[in-house]
Amino acid sequence: MGISFGKITVVGTGPGDIRDLTPRALEAIKSAAVVIGYKTYLREIEGILAEGQEKLPFGMKDEIRRCETAIEKSMEGKTVALVSGGDAGIYGMSGLLLEIMGSRSLLGKIPLEIVPGMPAFCSAAAALGAPIMNDFCVISLSNLLTPWDEIEKRLRAASSADFVIILYNPSSRRRRREFVLAKNILLEKIEGERPVAVVKAASRPDEAVEITILEKMDLSGIVSMNSAVIIGNSSTYVKDLYMITRRGYGNKYNLEAGE
Ligand code: SAH
Repeated sequence: MGISFGKITVVGTGPGDIRDLTPRALEAIKSAAVVIGYKTYLREIEGILAEGQEKLPFGMKDEIRRCETAIEKSMEGKTVALVSGGDAGIYGMSGLLLEIMGSRSLLGKIPLEIVPGMPAFCSAAAALGAPIMNDFCVISLSNLLTPWDEIEKRLRAASSADFVIILYNPSSRRRRREFVLAKNILLEKIEGERPVAVVKAASRPDEAVEITILEKMDLSGIVSMNSAVIIGNSSTYVKDLYMITRRGYGNKYNLEAGE
C-alpha cells in the first residue's frame, strides 16, 4: 500500500478579524484535522476552531518549522490548514512551503491547495478612501531577507515612476533607522507636500489612521510592524477625511455636480 498524504491547504485569512475570512478560507480551516500558524493568527480564528482539531501555534520566526510540520502531518495522512495573514502568497507562507516541498520532490505528490485572502493593503486603502486607484507597488522595509541595497533601489525606482507606494514592515522596535533612510530617498524625487497615510491594524478593532505629508512622516505616531504606509502619487489628494488618487476621469469628463 502506498503512503496516502493528507491534503495541505495554505489559507490566507485576511488582514483583520474573522469577518475578513472568505467562505472558502473558512471552509478550508474548518475541514482541516490540523491547523498550523503563527500564534496570533490562531488566536484570532479561535472562535471557528472545533475542539477535535489539533492546533499548532508557532512563534514569529518559525516559518520553516511551520512548513516542515505541515509536511510531517500530511505524511501521517492528516489534512492540514497552514494559515497565513492577509494573502498567503504576499510575503506569506505559500512560497516557502512550495520551495520546501520542491526541494524534497514533494510537489505533485502531496495534494495542495492555496486559498487566496485579502491583502492588508486592500483594508488599509479602504480605511482611507481610494488611494490606490492607479498603478501601485508594495515595498517591504524589512531587510531580514532582502538586502537593504535592493530596498533602496526599489524605493528610487518606484518614486521615479510615480507609483502609489505602499510600505510594509515600515518599522519595528529594533528597525527604526530604515524608515528615516527610506523617507529621505523618497524625498529625492517626491515633493515634501505629497500626501501620506498610515493605517495601523486595518480591519481590526484597534484600527487607526493618520494622514500627513511626506516631509512630516515620522515615527512619533502609529507607524509600527502592524501598520502600512501609503504614499500617494502625483495625482493623490486629501479631501475632508479621505485620501483619493485621481484616476483621470476628471480629464475626460466633467465631474462637477449636475454635469
Ligand atoms: N500577507 C500579508 C502581508 C504580510 S507582511 C498581506 O497579504 O498583506 C506583514 C506586513 O503587512 C506588516 O508589517 C504590515 O506592514 C502589513 N500588515 C499586515 N496586516 C496589517 C493590518 N491589519 N493593517 C495594516 N498593515 C498590515
